[in-house]
Amino acid sequence: MTQPDDALSTLRVALGERSYPIHIGPGLLGDPQWLTPHLAGRQVMVVTNETVAPLYLSRLRQGLGDDLDVRELVLPDGEATKTLASVERIWDALLEAGFNRRCTLVALGGGVIGDMVGFAAACYQRGVAFVQVPTTLLSQVDSSVGGKTGVNHPRGKNMIGAFWQPRAVLIDTDTLATLPPRELSAGLAEVIKYGLIRDPGFLGWLETHMAALRGLEAAALTRAIERSCSLKAEIVAEDETEQGVRALLNLGHTFGHAIEAHQGYGRWLHGEAVGTGMLMAAELSQRLGWLGDADVARVRAILAAAALPLEAPADMASRDFLAVMRLDKKNLDDRLRLILLRRLGEACIHDQTPPECLAALLEGFPR
Ligand code: NAD
Ligand code: MG
Repeated sequence: MTQPDDALSTLRVALGERSYPIHIGPGLLGDPQWLTPHLAGRQVMVVTNETVAPLYLSRLRQGLGDDLDVRELVLPDGEATKTLASVERIWDALLEAGFNRRCTLVALGGGVIGDMVGFAAACYQRGVAFVQVPTTLLSQVDSSVGGKTGVNHPRGKNMIGAFWQPRAVLIDTDTLATLPPRELSAGLAEVIKYGLIRDPGFLGWLETHMAALRGLEAAALTRAIERSCSLKAEIVAEDETEQGVRALLNLGHTFGHAIEAHQGYGRWLHGEAVGTGMLMAAELSQRLGWLGDADVARVRAILAAAALPLEAPADMASRDFLAVMRLDKKNLDDRLRLILLRRLGEACIHDQTPPECLAALLEGFPR
């Protein structure tokens, strides 16, 4: 097989009449066949940020052809810009351009851009088309599936938002070449998560292809991204409103959020905290008798191969973990609900962890 064949793939997210394709592979950005079929009309607003614009904006414009009315909006970079004020700048630009209900918003960037642009599209004139062009591994395997869009509020992350599905997602694996290595590892944590919760075969594949992934080999990236998106799509289709199985996507996230919150958001990347959180979940599952030593060693080894941290922050005590974990949205009636591993490739929701067992894990986990 030649490289373009095994490195290109299209996945359909089945949501009835809101179904959309996810195209994955190298070289998608500059090629009009991928983007133009998904535009609602001639009016196109590309929204990106100051980091991504100099890298990929001109390539994306090549992929838009000449006979369109294309405008650009370049926002500042960073999670701190994921605000309603930035979304208003998008709406202002659309109104200034005189864009109507048949315009299309294109989100070029990571999850911050994707979440904001999706939300702007959900509300502009009560909903217009948008296309996601995610350029971080995390946004490619996570935020591009599921339809969650939104912004942060000073009182909480992702507190304002809407469900709004894109017309298409274009994942150009070439864009990962410029991603800082820490961001790549953070995305790999979410990829590993899909194997751990649902697909032991994929987990095994990841163990043998981690070097290829970190070496940005196109065919390996396409396979990993495709499998991750389709596992997330399956889970979301089974449970759109997060009543049951969708909670499994939070493996490692309860411990991880505690790390992010204690350290101040930004010191640890989300994916790094999730990686350590998954190791904590695996060790707790071992204490409950579900995983063996060899299983936990495999989890540790694959996280290490992805260059993710294996230790909790040195200045974080057990009580610091518990203080944040008690506030977790998944908890019901004061019981801690955790996502744990019955075995590698099968996660479960568990609310019967004996407090002394959790305490022993938190005390014993390396710092
Ligand atoms: P991000 O968007 O902040 O991107 C990380 C950094 O990489 C930024 O500095 C960005 O400018 C830069 N960057 C992006 N693409 C690049 C490239 N190709 N080369 C070089 N640099 C590049 O962060 P993220 O990790 O992509 O996304 C995190 C956000 O996604 C959070 O706000 C989170 O809430 C959200 N999220 C949403 C969902 C969802 O379901 N909607 C799921 C997961 C995460
Ligand atoms: Mg996550």
